[in-house]
Amino acid sequence: MVFSGIQPSGRLHIGNYVGAMKNMIALQDEYFCIYGIVDYHAMTVRFDPKEMEMSIFSAAVDYIAAGIDPEKSVLMLQSTVSEHTELAWILNTITPISWLSRVPTFKEKSKENPDYVHMGLFDYPALMAADIILYKAHVVPVGDDQVAHLELTREIVRRFNSYFGQTFPEPEAKLGEISRILGLDGVNKMSKSLGNCIYLDETKEEIWKKLSTAVTDTNRKKRNDPGNPDICNIFTMHKAFSKQEDIEHCAHGCRTAGIGCLDCKKILLDNMYKELEPIQNKQKELRNKKDYIYEVLRDGKKRAKQIAQKTMDEVYEKIGIDSYHK
Ligand code: SF4
Repeated sequence: MVFSGIQPSGRLHIGNYVGAMKNMIALQDEYFCIYGIVDYHAMTVRFDPKEMEMSIFSAAVDYIAAGIDPEKSVLMLQSTVSEHTELAWILNTITPISWLSRVPTFKEKSKENPDYVHMGLFDYPALMAADIILYKAHVVPVGDDQVAHLELTREIVRRFNSYFGQTFPEPEAKLGEISRILGLDGVNKMSKSLGNCIYLDETKEEIWKKLSTAVTDTNRKKRNDPGNPDICNIFTMHKAFSKQEDIEHCAHGCRTAGIGCLDCKKILLDNMYKELEPIQNKQKELRNKKDYIYEVLRDGKKRAKQIAQKTMDEVYEKIGIDSYHK
C-alpha cells in the first residue's frame, strides 16, 4: 500500500512534477495507491476560503492530467475522511513536543511568518503521520525534503506499537530517480515564493524565456571553457526529461566545450515540452469536466473511508474504547 499527500497550493511547477508526481505515477503499476489532496495541511498557512475550492479542483485536475489514474488508484480529499483527524488526535497524545519542535519546516515557516505561528503549524507532522498510517501504507513517495517527516512518522509508529501492541507498519520513504531539481537560480529549491520556477502549464515560448537565462555551471565563463554537467542544474533537468542519447551528448559536449549552454538548453526545452504538452492538453480538457472531477473525489472518499474505518476500529480496540464505537 502506498500513500502520498498532494498539497492544493495552486499552480504546479516542474520541481513538484519531477520530485514527487512522476514517482507517484510510476508506483501505480506496482502498488495499490491512495493519493490524498491534503486540504487540512493547506490550512496551516493563511488562506482565502474563496480560493480553497478552486485550489482543490486544480490539484485534482493537475494530478489526473499528469497520470494519476482514478481507475487504478484512489484520489480523495483529506477532509472528507474524518478518520484522518480522529487518528491525528490519538497520535497527538503520544508524540512528545520535543520531536515536533525539531522538524525543520516548523522552524523555517515560523521564521518566514513570525506573526502566524500556531498549533496547526507545529502539529501538522502528527496529522501527516495519521494520513499515512491510517491506510497502513508501507511505502511513501517523497521528495528529499520530506524524508525528515517520514522519519518522525516511523518514530510515532514505533511508540504507538510499543504502547498499545503491534498495529501499524513502519512506512518506508521512496525517493524518485531525481528527488530534487533546483530553481532557475541554480542555488535554491524551486519555489513559487522565490519566483524561480517553470510551471507545468507554461507555453514553450514562456519556458524558453526562463530557461535561456537560467544559471548553469558558473565556472563556465566562455563558450570555449569546458563545463561540468555534474554541478549544473540544467543537466539535472536533462536527466529528468531527456532520453539517454541526449543526456550523453550534452554531458560529453559540455565537458569538451563541444556544445554551448544555449544549444544544451534548446535540446532540454524540446524534450521537456514533449513531456509537458500532453499534460497541458489534458489539463485543458479536464478543467471543463467539473462533474467528472467531483465524482472522482466522491468515489475516492468512499473507497478510502472503507479502509480508514477498519483501521480506526482496530485503533479503538487497542486503546480500549471499542465497545463504545460499535
Ligand atoms: Fe550546463 Fe549544458 Fe552548459 Fe554544461 S553545456 S554547463 S550541462 S547548460
